[in-house]
Amino acid sequence: MPAKYVIHTKPVAHRFEPITRSGIIAWEEGCLKCPVCVKRQCVYGVYDHRHLDARQMIDSIDNQCMNCLRCVQSCPKELIHKSLNPEYKAIGDAHWTPDIISRLWYQAETGKIPVSGAGYNGPFSGPGFDSMWTDMSEIVRPTRDGIHGREYISTAVDLGRTPRHLLFTRQGDLEGHTPNVLGIPMPILMRLPGFGSISNETVLGWNLAARRLGTLMAVPLELINSGQVEFSRWSIPVITSHESDPGRGLQGAPMVEIPWGEEWKDYRDELTSVEASPLICDKIVLEKGAEEKVLRAVDGGASMIHLEGSMGGRFVDDHSRYIKDGIRSIHLRLVEEGVRDEITLLASGGIAMAEQVAKSVICGADAVFVDFAILIALECRMCRRCTEGLSCPVEIKDAAASWVAERVVNLLGAWHNQLLEVMGAMGIRDARRLRGESGRAMFFEELDRETFSSMGEIQEGCELE
Ligand code: SF4
Ligand code: SF4
Repeated sequence: MPAKYVIHTKPVAHRFEPITRSGIIAWEEGCLKCPVCVKRQCVYGVYDHRHLDARQMIDSIDNQCMNCLRCVQSCPKELIHKSLNPEYKAIGDAHWTPDIISRLWYQAETGKIPVSGAGYNGPFSGPGFDSMWTDMSEIVRPTRDGIHGREYISTAVDLGRTPRHLLFTRQGDLEGHTPNVLGIPMPILMRLPGFGSISNETVLGWNLAARRLGTLMAVPLELINSGQVEFSRWSIPVITSHESDPGRGLQGAPMVEIPWGEEWKDYRDELTSVEASPLICDKIVLEKGAEEKVLRAVDGGASMIHLEGSMGGRFVDDHSRYIKDGIRSIHLRLVEEGVRDEITLLASGGIAMAEQVAKSVICGADAVFVDFAILIALECRMCRRCTEGLSCPVEIKDAAASWVAERVVNLLGAWHNQLLEVMGAMGIRDARRLRGESGRAMFFEELDRETFSSMGEIQEGCELE
């Protein structure tokens, strides 16, 4: 049995004060000047250490307050209030919500799984991945704990076409070619986000993280320079132009991504003709007709497909459809056609939480790409100022590569532990077996249909009053 894959994390401080969910408002007017002010009784010494960060205009009490509400409840004149921070509510968008962003910051800082306390006060269903529930019926078994227990849970997955069977000679040697399959220790790859205040140092940090985690980082070929040659084993050069020299920047890269299409056939042939040619991943945009394109790509000999959704986790051309549904329908279609095992399906588009990795795999993906999550790990506020050429409020491009790498390792370390938790609770010990295992999940739309679609219908033999 291979050694247990463990991601070691350690706290890595923020470079800037994070925007907090709530702030303290303490009025002075009407103060009775009590001999012992409740502010002095704060066990965390929040008021005693109070200071203003002049650069960011942030009051330290907002970040240091632990929300015990003691001062709020004890002030006899009720002069102290906690209120929702409007700046917090304004960060991100409908998909990258303030809560998701602040949890990603927490995981990148601590490397720990965010815990929200006892009970759950959120909704039980919602759009996209939120309409899918995983079966946690095995959670009662303590030995199932893949993080601390003795259970061995493998999160490793294979990329590339796996042969249907192997043939051996009488001497026991493998007949024919050794299959070109690449193993990664967890079903998560990284890719450059679509925007961000990104410098060479940032990309170097992501490369360092990919090497430490044993996964791969997809970077446009034009951004690969001589300084990144040492990371080529953990890189996926992304080619978008026919003009790119197929040999340049590919030395040692185990995989390369090109757009799928007839016009890329010659380029692909050239790529496969180079010595020790890399695995080729064909990118297909998740939009209307993607299913047919995937089938044609499989027919055309593709071994790996990257389904690229929008950064909001939806189809690129139809915002009413979610990547969850796209992955599932394409996976089921490949199963129906009897070709599912001939292809590796990778998915990207708004993967924002560890649970979405597990849910994508249950829907049928072999692995997913994360992009904006590794930018948010660097304190990105998704304000999009960089897209307008304005300065980044958290100066991401100036961050040292080592800090970038440690933050991303922390984030994916926390995600890996959550994946182990989910798999352990589902009783699944191998991520390869989780793929398409929809029997371990419930889908709200299906339950809703099954339960309520017959309501109002008149059953045979039933008489209405
Ligand atoms: S709410 Fe609690 S932790 Fe926050 S400032 Fe008041 S006493 Fe301190
Ligand atoms: S914080 Fe704003 S400006 Fe900086 S990288 Fe993120 S989106 Fe761009």
